[in-house]
Amino acid sequence: MEKQKTAIITGITGQDGGYLAKFLLEKGYKVIGLVRRGATDTFVKLKEHGIFDKIEFVDFDLLEFTNICRIIKKYRPDEFYNLAAQSFVGVSFEEPIYTTEADGMGVVYILEAIREFSPHTRYYQASTSEMFGKVQEMPQTEKTPFYPRSPYGVAKLMAHWMTTNYRESFGLYTCSGILFNHESPMRGKEFVTRKITSHFAELYVGKTDKPVELGNLNSKRDWGFAGDYVKMMWLMLQQDHGDTYVIATNETHSIREFVEEVAKVCGWDIEWKGEGVDEIGVDKKTGKVLVKINPKFYRPAEVDILIGNPEKAKKVLGWKRDVDYNALCKMMMERDIERAQNGNL
Ligand code: NAP
Repeated sequence: MEKQKTAIITGITGQDGGYLAKFLLEKGYKVIGLVRRGATDTFVKLKEHGIFDKIEFVDFDLLEFTNICRIIKKYRPDEFYNLAAQSFVGVSFEEPIYTTEADGMGVVYILEAIREFSPHTRYYQASTSEMFGKVQEMPQTEKTPFYPRSPYGVAKLMAHWMTTNYRESFGLYTCSGILFNHESPMRGKEFVTRKITSHFAELYVGKTDKPVELGNLNSKRDWGFAGDYVKMMWLMLQQDHGDTYVIATNETHSIREFVEEVAKVCGWDIEWKGEGVDEIGVDKKTGKVLVKINPKFYRPAEVDILIGNPEKAKKVLGWKRDVDYNALCKMMMERDIERAQNGNL
């Protein structure tokens, strides 16, 4: 019988962590979840996935090097998925130092510990399309020059190059997955897609009558489903050698389009009125204001458009998505309506 593989996942309490843990458990892995202590329950998503009891949890923080060393030394895992990060672009403008330390230096700590204590461990780094920022080419590939537009993007770019460097300098099996935006009903409510669906769900069940407040409606993103993307993380670690891959849908939609699409699920037909900060989104039938602009949500430097070309991943990993954009919108909106109706949004 084949030996059971061990995988460590950082950021297991986040959106991707839950989907990845579920996927690896189904594959028969022993899953070690690294978690930072929280004053409130951070395991909600893992409980909703129904896998909370199947994971061994270990205390961890990206900034605690000695703790990382002890963990790597103790488990010497087959695979290490580093999903933990200060992952919110907006917050990174307010907390640039912490974001750089966690998302940049935190990765160096892990790579150093792997190099020193467990060089056979295969490492996955959660890189991001935000590294392309002010895009230099359309669509973006593994070869497109980077131009990050936020402290988050800059810190992740450092981590990306460290991941590449440890592969080339020390022969470690490391992968950088440049994942474009991926969403799901498990997305944090601070992220724009889930902010919209959770607020619309409250409007739908009558828990609020206030419109959702948004920033730049014209930003365009390449949106996929998180459940599809985590499978690619695993596949990246099952090849002959580590590498860098873009995972994307090669389709882009504006936030405005996302609003319109999820509104349809609620039975609303959005009409836009006014311009700039005075623009509002109104339900044609009832005249109810569903969306308004709040300049507070504009970014100091905007990323206008992202669209990825996943040709390499298609060829090497057999990448394909099971959930398309419309199905994703529907899934997210329906789940939030259900949660709102059950009082657990
Ligand atoms: P997420 O939901 O925001 O989850 C982030 C995770 O990191 C949480 O489990 C959080 O723990 C943990 N974390 C944050 N700071 C930490 C620290 N100092 N020490 C230990 N753990 C810490 O993010 P996600 O959407 O699942 O994304 C997973 C990874 O992919 C992130 O690195 C993100 O930057 C990257 N990424 C995401 C996307 C996307 O569209 N989702 C696209 C490209 C790349 P708590 O529960 O304690 O907060």
